[in-house]
Amino acid sequence: MDLYDRLERLALDLWWSWQPGAGALWERLDPTTWAALEHRPVALLRTLGRPAVEAAMDAEGEALLASLEARRAAEDAAPSWHDLAGRPLPGTVAYFSAEFGLHESVRIYSGGLGILAGDHVKSAADLGLPFVAVGLLYRHGYGRQALGPTGEQLTEYRTYDFADYPLVRCEDAAGAPLVVEVPMAGRPCRAAVWRLPVGRVSLYLLDTDIPENPEEFRGITAQLYGGGVEGRIQQELVLGVGGVRALAALGIEPAVFHLNEGHSSFLNLERIRQLRASGAAADVPAAIARIRPNSVFTTHTPVEAGHDRFDVDLAWRYLAWWADAVGLDQRGLMALGHWPDEGDPRAVFNMTFLAMATCDHLNGVAALHGEVSREMFGRYFGSPPTDEVPITHVTNGVHPPSWQAPELVDVMALELGPDFRARPETDAVWQRVAAVDDAALWTVHQQLKVRLLGLARAREARRRERLGLPPFPDRLDPDALTIGFARRFAPYKRADLLFSDLPRLLAILEAAPGPVQVLFAGKAHPADTRGKELVAAVHRHSASPALAGKVLLIEDYDIELGRALTQGVDVWLNNPRRPKEASGTSGMKAAMNGALNLSILDGWWPEGYNGQNGWAIGEARAYASEAEQDAADADSLYRLLAEEVIPAYFDRDKAGVPHGWIRRMKASIATCTPRFSSDRQVIDYVHHLYAPG
Ligand SMILES: *Cc1c(COP(=O)(O)O)cnc(C)c1O
Repeated sequence: MDLYDRLERLALDLWWSWQPGAGALWERLDPTTWAALEHRPVALLRTLGRPAVEAAMDAEGEALLASLEARRAAEDAAPSWHDLAGRPLPGTVAYFSAEFGLHESVRIYSGGLGILAGDHVKSAADLGLPFVAVGLLYRHGYGRQALGPTGEQLTEYRTYDFADYPLVRCEDAAGAPLVVEVPMAGRPCRAAVWRLPVGRVSLYLLDTDIPENPEEFRGITAQLYGGGVEGRIQQELVLGVGGVRALAALGIEPAVFHLNEGHSSFLNLERIRQLRASGAAADVPAAIARIRPNSVFTTHTPVEAGHDRFDVDLAWRYLAWWADAVGLDQRGLMALGHWPDEGDPRAVFNMTFLAMATCDHLNGVAALHGEVSREMFGRYFGSPPTDEVPITHVTNGVHPPSWQAPELVDVMALELGPDFRARPETDAVWQRVAAVDDAALWTVHQQLKVRLLGLARAREARRRERLGLPPFPDRLDPDALTIGFARRFAPYKRADLLFSDLPRLLAILEAAPGPVQVLFAGKAHPADTRGKELVAAVHRHSASPALAGKVLLIEDYDIELGRALTQGVDVWLNNPRRPKEASGTSGMKAAMNGALNLSILDGWWPEGYNGQNGWAIGEARAYASEAEQDAADADSLYRLLAEEVIPAYFDRDKAGVPHGWIRRMKASIATCTPRFSSDRQVIDYVHHLYAPG
């Protein structure tokens, strides 16, 4: 194989995206084009063309390529975690999700849920599980955020060329392009099936934008979470029903089905229909009894609006064919999406209830979220004592090779020993980080901060140029205590809490022994007016004379920016209204990079915080009102900043190294990397939910 073909083979599997050195290999081919193409190597190779690519490959590039190929070959040849664990999975796990956040180059994600799914798939690949994933291929992805002159959020939808993605179109048994059919309110909707290789596993993506479809169906998979409620039920039929049909057409017979959130619950309707059609189940209850034992459902939010619901007329219009096929009337169908004690047959059809009606294994995504979910859904199970409600939890994790800065890993690697890449979920390996040289660790951390500030400046410069605004009054400073806050701008996340008592904030900044700066990023859902107001409010603060240049809202939060922020800040701020944050994962990414969490004890943080590895804002208790809760949490946040965080950061030795701070960074890395690794998460799913007992 010549050089170009070898590069193309590397590009056509997202495995490259979590290998140290691979990004540098693409970048050296042509840094400008690489950035302009949003880190899509397939597009880069095609754009540059064979002669230019081969000319750009010097000896160093060839050595890098060869080492990546050798690493992949070694990985494939060695026994995997799954082999070494005695192959606990009886067969293939099929993991369904509406979004997958694998890398910034593949725009089929919006935020936390997708990134969680992406990290789950990557760990399944690394661990060598028999595993496939199923999702949708969105032509226009999720809305990109552009901030107007006064911080108003504009949402742009771009068109992505699937030829730029590492995709292959799947074929049927006869070698023709595979198309599956999904009944869509009385008419057949067709979907193409694509395969996206993610290391040792495959992600299958369905796409209705094909000429076989009438115009109105071609747009079903156009936008992630776009298209209103009717668009939503159409997408979810393609994902659930189409996804099961696609796996069957590919000859894949899953042993376990995992519904990542209720968007894919219709997959179990299709499984019920198949059992009825083949005669394997005499009626719907019998079919449900057959599918329950190998069905896993993960719920991801205690916020009501996060659970998909369809009114009775819409549900009946799209599901009557199914009820007819399995022998149910309208009331029987609707009952599958209701509280079991629901008296009103016209109540909305809830996808979470459909999942709970058809899955034996239910879980939340952190210990506290498990508790909250047991309270929230106790009624579904006849209101037993809360601790007997059959919902457990697996705490989320993130994929260390995707999120931990390779430069930081390099400086730790000598102490961690040779086995840490193979077993990143083991505690003992990470305890050794205590022995890493403080000055060396600090130097790398500062370099990562400089890189982050460069990205922040570049994005702000691009925005100002687009809007014809004067240049950014740049006071961003790598020697400043740098606080990061990046999350969806949902009101319960309280992006403006830091500004709730402005004079107090300014006094704290004034009294600090050195500079402090805060970087914000995050999108509001395009339909969330209150969230968009919060975006504008944070922008307004960043433009105020007192804070200009010290507070910056960086536009278009995505995986690239998320990586740079969590690798480059000193402190990661998280202040949701407890207990609304189911888990949160950005704080885990930060913790693994030695950024100290300053967080409400919500989501994952009650499990992560140990008194030495960051700070806990407020108290783990309930409040009489939101106003009271907000005031108490703001007070705690200000006090921690003034009395603990800022003094600790500026406590330096003669060479300017903050040893006390670095001790906390090491505690954060050592305690959080193994425990909040998605390898640990996926292993927990294997033992407790995929193959329990
Ligand atoms: C990690 C990540 C998220 C999820 O983080 P939360 O802590 O749940 O807010 C969302 N978006 C991006 C781009 C991320 O990298």
